[in-house]
Amino acid sequence: AEAHEAYAAARPRSAAIHERARAVMPGGNTRSVLFYTPFPTAMVRGEGCRLWDADGREYLDLLGEYTAGLFGHSETRIIEAVKQALDRGINLASVGEAEQDLARLIIGRFPSIELVRFTNSGTEANLLALAAARGFTGRTKVMVMRGGYHGGVLTFATEQSAVNLPIPLAFTDYNDPAAATRDILAEGSLLAAVLVEPMLGSGGCIPASREFLQALRDATRQTGAVLIFDEVMTSRHGPGGLQQRMDVIPDMTTLGKYMAGGMSFGAFGGRADIMAVFDGHKPGTLPHAGTFNNNVWSMAAGCVAMGEIFDAATAEALYARGEALRDALNAACTAAGVGMQFTGRGSMLTVHFRPGPITAPYAATPAENALRELFFFDLLAQGIYLARRGMAALSLPVGEADCARYVAAVEEFVAARKPLL
Ligand code: PLP
Repeated sequence: AEAHEAYAAARPRSAAIHERARAVMPGGNTRSVLFYTPFPTAMVRGEGCRLWDADGREYLDLLGEYTAGLFGHSETRIIEAVKQALDRGINLASVGEAEQDLARLIIGRFPSIELVRFTNSGTEANLLALAAARGFTGRTKVMVMRGGYHGGVLTFATEQSAVNLPIPLAFTDYNDPAAATRDILAEGSLLAAVLVEPMLGSGGCIPASREFLQALRDATRQTGAVLIFDEVMTSRHGPGGLQQRMDVIPDMTTLGKYMAGGMSFGAFGGRADIMAVFDGHKPGTLPHAGTFNNNVWSMAAGCVAMGEIFDAATAEALYARGEALRDALNAACTAAGVGMQFTGRGSMLTVHFRPGPITAPYAATPAENALRELFFFDLLAQGIYLARRGMAALSLPVGEADCARYVAAVEEFVAARKPLL
């Protein structure tokens, strides 16, 4: 309550914006993930990895728009590419060359992608990948992970959330190779696809073990189900995504977030024989329209983002920076002797208030939830912007000094709240 009071007192303009928004949008927002009580901070400007809120407070942006803000807020090459694209017209109702350039860049990077198509979001990319798998196999059922997240209507934090999706679902447990193998074989020829994040993102930055991913690979090969890796967030973890780093290659991959330089984006791709279900040259193909699938600003920005900026060396350097940061944060927690840790891979990390290995989603205790909330508000008071759930996603402008500042801020949190930890 004390943290809420201090927070609200410092942000009268954000409070007013929230009150006005509640009159026209349920909860005062149009992205559930941005909501928290008493009201969310309203950001009004960004530059590099800095943000300013409506009350004039400055923050180090370590949220990086939940991974979509990889390039920061003012990457001049992306802004220039968008401006040039818009100068040639906004909506041309036509195929363009930028989309095939971007497709080539993506195919050149991801081992599993032989052909690719674009969407407006990661959610749509996953829905279309499932459509492809169902069309290709002639089967209907889809297996997902308990605690997985693949978009607004593909949220599996609880099995009740399946109400969002008119597709028959089967569930299995993350990082349990024996259970996954058993469950996939039990579904047998009913199963069209297995959809999995190679690291749970929203679920708490919990990496999959190689053994688990390999078990999914082997079992789906046996039953003929299409294995889909959702790399909407994790594709940043190496030149060819996390699949390349883990050396487990799925049949299909979905992409999104940062890949169009921060413009709206999604893509799904995979084996040519599966993607052929959308080939209009052939009879009986599946439809995949979408007014903004190849919108000129996303395609142009994507070519620059993937072709000029986020090259293989940059991807490796970002991964290494994140690993070093997580090591430093965990070393600080160990040194302080607190039951708190940071999980993740590379440039994505989430705080947890429990000791010991975390390999699967868990139901947090009320005490853990309270500490997570306190962490968020304490860090915000120190001028550091994270996801409310305690996730950070580094963007390219985040430098070593910024990482050191995060470590120091966490040390301050630990020192101030040690009796609670
Ligand atoms: N898949 C994963 C792993 C995600 O984390 C997200 C978004 O957070 C999505 C899919 C959905 O992407 P979008 O929000 O662009 O629909």
